[in-house]
Amino acid sequence: MIIDTHCHLYLDDFDTDRPALIERANAESVGRFYLPAIDSSIIDRMLKMEQDYPAQCFAMMGLHPCSVKENFEEELQIAEDWLTRRKFAAVGETGLDFYWDRTFTAQQYIAFKTQVDWAKKYEIPVVIHSRQSTPECIDVIKEMHDDSLSGVFHCFGGSLQEALQIIELGFYLGIGGVLTYKNAGLAGVIEKLPLDNIVVETDAPYLTPTPFRGKRNESAYLKYVVQKIAELKNMSVEEVADVTTANAKKLFDR
Ligand SMILES: [Zn+2]
Ligand SMILES: [Zn+2]
Repeated sequence: MIIDTHCHLYLDDFDTDRPALIERANAESVGRFYLPAIDSSIIDRMLKMEQDYPAQCFAMMGLHPCSVKENFEEELQIAEDWLTRRKFAAVGETGLDFYWDRTFTAQQYIAFKTQVDWAKKYEIPVVIHSRQSTPECIDVIKEMHDDSLSGVFHCFGGSLQEALQIIELGFYLGIGGVLTYKNAGLAGVIEKLPLDNIVVETDAPYLTPTPFRGKRNESAYLKYVVQKIAELKNMSVEEVADVTTANAKKLFDR
């Protein structure tokens, strides 16, 4: 079995074919789906999907850095209310995004640190989005780290040195479609890393792997990521699936 540790399958992109999407993923051995929250606008859809597929879909709760705007305090309140009400797989996705917009950088930091605190308080992992902000996110985790804190740098695209710092903190690297892109440089990093701290993800509907780059991403395409890792590490696809699945189970403790 392969676990898609990060996919937004509840978005309207999948409204026309959601059951078929799950079937296609299952046919490619992708059997579990971790659903990161974005903001309050998607919570109902995300929880509905979890209810429809209780053995396979697991919701997280949090506020995405790109959704940190003027009303971020209200948004955080809604997310924390949910965390007090029931168990979630993780806090997230949270983090910093300096790629799209830097207007709310200070607020992004506040929201990120607040959510790292939640991960500690509710004893669940934190799922970190670090677009053009990997060193800054590492700094926040270093500063706030304690023995109970764990999590994943999802869609990791940083350097070998950054990867090693993340592993040193006991965190995981979420590897997705970017690995299959030429010129991304990530392949060279993965080649040099042990698999012990690597989990796989699609971030569907985004970041579609080659050969479907540019189209809508879906969890069935996770096989292209697993194949690429196998090729780089000189391992069988089965071995990579086994190790990354064991890692994902450790990460989410299920
Ligand atoms: Zn993200
Ligand atoms: Zn995401």
